[in-house]
Amino acid sequence: PDGPDVEALQHADVAGLLPSPSAESDKYRRGVVGVVAGSDRYPGAAVLSVAGALHGGAGAVRYVGPAADAVIAHFPETLVSAGPPSKAGRVQAWVVGPGLGDDARARRAVDDVLASDVPVLVDADGLHLVSVDALRARSAATVLTPHAGEAAALLGRSREDVESARLESARALAERFGVTALLKGSTTVVACASGEAVRVNPTGTPWLATAGSGDVLSGLTGSLLAAGLPGRDAASVGAYLHGLAARSLGSAPLTAMGVAGALPGVWRRVS
Ligand code: AMP
Ligand code: MG
Repeated sequence: PDGPDVEALQHADVAGLLPSPSAESDKYRRGVVGVVAGSDRYPGAAVLSVAGALHGGAGAVRYVGPAADAVIAHFPETLVSAGPPSKAGRVQAWVVGPGLGDDARARRAVDDVLASDVPVLVDADGLHLVSVDALRARSAATVLTPHAGEAAALLGRSREDVESARLESARALAERFGVTALLKGSTTVVACASGEAVRVNPTGTPWLATAGSGDVLSGLTGSLLAAGLPGRDAASVGAYLHGLAARSLGSAPLTAMGVAGALPGVWRRVS
């Protein structure tokens, strides 16, 4: 009545949701993540999103975009392809947006990914290139991962209004766009359109307020989508592990790449 129901994600819930490979698993069944990110100006965002996906359990990562050299230099495991995402080969989930820019290529890539029938996570620059119609027309899960400023732009509100009503803003995003909304910030919350309780993430740390950490979260959450978690679970488990990885580095400065590297250790502890 006074706003959406709220719940905190518990350690035991996360343990129960973490995908674990079975004897029959192969890299394709474990989940291939397609990453559409980076630009000549922001190649690092692509590297960090791929880092999040690979350290977040993806069976394989396909990278589509202009930062392939940088991605391969850091992660030779990555499959790279030129051309539009829809020609890149099968993936189980797409991550689109970090460092993408807003030129014609970026617009086409976002449209192409949204037209697919697999789960899609849209972050950062991608959030400026989506339309309500394209999002509402999708059949598979869609997760949006804005910070307060990006959420404000999507909702046509001020950043202050989003910050002062984070739960309601996340719920409004989910309902208006027909998506799972992961609203990042000092208290990260996850809302979805079906009216289930809004999940509040208990593991954040302000040390995460550093360049590129959101890019790592996008890849991590994309790998959970590719493993088959529903949008709401992928988003909340992603935020949980991301916060825990940062905390595992202590109360001290961290880098986004350091957070990605800490993910497997946190995974071991939770599972
Ligand atoms: P981005 O804004 O895309 O770079 O993402 C920043 C990441 O850091 C998100 O996962 C945020 O939830 C997290 N973050 C930023 N500021 C804070 C804060 N003050 N406390 C906890 N987490 C934060
Ligand atoms: Mg960001």
